[in-house]
Amino acid sequence: MSMPAYMIPCPVVRDFLMEYLDSRLPMVRQWRFWFHLQLCPPCSRYLRRYNKSVDFSRELLEGFTPPPDLVEHTREFLHKHIHTHG
Ligand SMILES: [Zn+2]
Repeated sequence: MSMPAYMIPCPVVRDFLMEYLDSRLPMVRQWRFWFHLQLCPPCSRYLRRYNKSVDFSRELLEGFTPPPDLVEHTREFLHKHIHTHG
């Protein structure tokens, strides 16, 4: 099974959330995490809980608009992914 490089499975996002919040990931990965979190409600909720006391440094990516087809692909992927896990 292959997936586009910009897709990150939910468990990976959660495992590296600390690094993401600290901006310790490579730029491309930061961007993928951010993108995942925009489109994945469960991870988004997880982030909000996790992030209560952390100063979320999102200014780096603020104003960035992902290409519509990328948004579509990611939604599709996440939809399937979430359904796979019930
Ligand atoms: Zn997710």
